[in-house]
Amino acid sequence: MPSNIPKYYKNKGVTAAQWHDWRWQLANNINTAQELCQVANLPKSEAKKLMAIFAKLAEPGLDAVRLTPFLISLIDWKNPTDPIRLQHIPDEAEFKPDRYTINKVWEQPNDFADGANRFIQQKYPDIILLRLASTCNAFCRFCFEKERTLRRSVRTAIGPIQFKKALDAINSKPNVRQILISGGDPMIIPDQLLFHYLGQIVKIPHISTIRLNTRALLHNPFRIDEKFVNTLAKIQTDSWKIKGRERGVSIEIGVHFNHPQELSAEALNAIRQLRRAGIGVYNQTVLLKGINDNVEILADLYRCLRQENVTLHYLSHAMPVPGTDHLRTSITAGQIIMRQLRRKKEFRGQLPYFETSHYTGKQIIPDDFNDNFKLFKAKNGPEIHFLSDITGKIEILPDVN
Ligand code: SF4
Repeated sequence: MPSNIPKYYKNKGVTAAQWHDWRWQLANNINTAQELCQVANLPKSEAKKLMAIFAKLAEPGLDAVRLTPFLISLIDWKNPTDPIRLQHIPDEAEFKPDRYTINKVWEQPNDFADGANRFIQQKYPDIILLRLASTCNAFCRFCFEKERTLRRSVRTAIGPIQFKKALDAINSKPNVRQILISGGDPMIIPDQLLFHYLGQIVKIPHISTIRLNTRALLHNPFRIDEKFVNTLAKIQTDSWKIKGRERGVSIEIGVHFNHPQELSAEALNAIRQLRRAGIGVYNQTVLLKGINDNVEILADLYRCLRQENVTLHYLSHAMPVPGTDHLRTSITAGQIIMRQLRRKKEFRGQLPYFETSHYTGKQIIPDDFNDNFKLFKAKNGPEIHFLSDITGKIEILPDVN
């Protein structure tokens, strides 16, 4: 799928082969204001503001910002509210005090099924979250995994010893059906290693589904090439013949699109390659203020995804991550949008669940408040009190106005 190479890169002599190579995109990611301003050809006044923001964010040894050249090429720089820009380019609003934030990943010591190894997290009896990477193709400002991906304060780079321990732990839990590989982006892992991991997991007889959550289709869609798709499909079909397994393993790719503008020709090509090879594709969207908190934008996104046979999985309430208050809606705003979407008959029986993450696990949000899901006006602002279907207790989630 040939795509246009932006002028900046053409002038630098970047070839079409380089531009379409996911490794080139990764190796040439942009993390300085100077380079970003040049690529985007920003006017001086805007460049000055951006440089000041980058300077405030700077911390030794850390990339405060990371963007692939491809991602930058999707932004309309003339539009200050471009949805891809708002999700990836830091803003002055990040420095405003937050009403409520978590300053670490919402993890409980008991979540870790592999003890001190801490690579597999289990909040539900039948699903294990396995982390194979600690970074991503590009960084999203609202990321709930910011501490791992962007701030690198939580260790997540798995090695052979940790992977073996993780496999042992999964093997010892016959109730586990699904392995969710997520946050950082597993698609950042080279083919050989990623396929080695998958090849080991499919051998576990009680695993029925492996889900890989990725934002590569937005950030670096060239990652999904013919070799990748064919090998993934082969691992899936070979699982039908594994000795000791009664049935095969379904391999699914969890994509993350928040706005229809993100569905580039390259992203659609990647989805179509996966679907053609029999790989399931599902989408998760995060509800973000000023980006997609609008029924028509979400309806357009969902319509486009369904046209491509992508299952709509979750609409996620944005988590209270430090520096993201300006991007968060209230729970009530999300409920209103869900009710509006439900009135559109074309989505009957197809809409995603609206959910919120919580340190106890994901909680489905009903369309209206009820006895088990109430809104309270607490001293420090609104709070949601809900009966958790995981702990069976009333749990609290601070909300925004
Ligand atoms: S791709 Fe996912 S894990 Fe990575 S920064 Fe974006 S939201 Fe976070």
